[in-house]
Amino acid sequence: MKQILVLGAGGFIGSHLVKRLKAEGNWVRGVDVKYPRYEETPADDFVIGDLREQYVVRQVIDRRFDEVYQLAADMGGAGYIFTGQHDAEIMHNSATINLNVLDACHKRNIKRIFYSSSACMYPQENQEDPNNPNCREDSAYPAHPDSEYGWEKLFSERLFLAYHRNHGIEARVARYHNIFGPLGSWNDGREKSPAAICRKVAMAQDGGEIEIWGDGTQTRSFLFIDECLEGTIRLTRSGFTGPVNIGSDEMVTINQLVDIVSSIAGKQLYKRHIPGPLGVRGRNSDNTLIRERLEWAPSLTLRAGLEKTYAWISEQIRRKANDR
Ligand code: NAD
Repeated sequence: MKQILVLGAGGFIGSHLVKRLKAEGNWVRGVDVKYPRYEETPADDFVIGDLREQYVVRQVIDRRFDEVYQLAADMGGAGYIFTGQHDAEIMHNSATINLNVLDACHKRNIKRIFYSSSACMYPQENQEDPNNPNCREDSAYPAHPDSEYGWEKLFSERLFLAYHRNHGIEARVARYHNIFGPLGSWNDGREKSPAAICRKVAMAQDGGEIEIWGDGTQTRSFLFIDECLEGTIRLTRSGFTGPVNIGSDEMVTINQLVDIVSSIAGKQLYKRHIPGPLGVRGRNSDNTLIRERLEWAPSLTLRAGLEKTYAWISEQIRRKANDR
């Protein structure tokens, strides 16, 4: 039985990861400022604590864990990251957590630690053509992310790699691309486009309309949570440090995303395009490196993941309506 620490265990990916690691039979401690919102955690130990505080980090990293997954970060959807209103908090909070965690892991002689970076660290000029974005891992430099969130991820990637070089920590760095699925934010202003669109479609009348930020021709790819966990665990236990993309290479426009969700819901909807924070014009995961180094890449279709997510969000809406 491994002893595993999951930081950010109250969040979307962290709460799913704890479930998965428990199902494997490991002893798991989770840490977060909050409990998972939609389900009770199966963690053996769950500590409510603020990882910006060095003494909290030293307390929760109290042993030589076999694996540490560092997912805690100040983040949200486009409405949180791209308005510029939260830049100082995003940079300060996430960088402080990463500095504290690496220092404590090094002092405990912990060897294996996973870090979740983001596709948001890629240069914005490589993502201006919606039909041909470049997100190869080696296109990261010269760096020019389009948000302070991306700059902080880049700094922290480098921090993890520096601890790897200088202190022999087996750091594993992934660049996640738009992870979605059940138990994620869907109505609190931090939701990403798949959840927001599932909610809008579920709440719309057949034949009605839904609002879409921008002209809907911007492209993205979206990775279902189960595939994200598979890639995360495979990378952590592999001999490859990264950074490596963990994402889907099934690229769609936002308009196509709406069409898929509408067809799952069995609704005909008119799209009304309104101004809103957008991010880059195009982004897609390049999976050449992950295939090469892990002999694995995500393969679940976007539609299959959206079916599960739509079912869960519709259920949340039904429950809310019944509670009133
Ligand atoms: P999330 O916001 O649901 O989870 C992050 C968790 O970190 C939250 O539960 C939050 O409470 C916790 N946290 C924040 N500040 C903390 C603090 N000071 N002390 C303790 N806990 C704190 O986000 P997520 O979608 O689960 O993402 C997990 C990681 O993956 C993050 O690092 C994120 O940047 C990265 N990532 C996610 C995506 C995605 O599409 N979800 C894409 C790229 C990168």
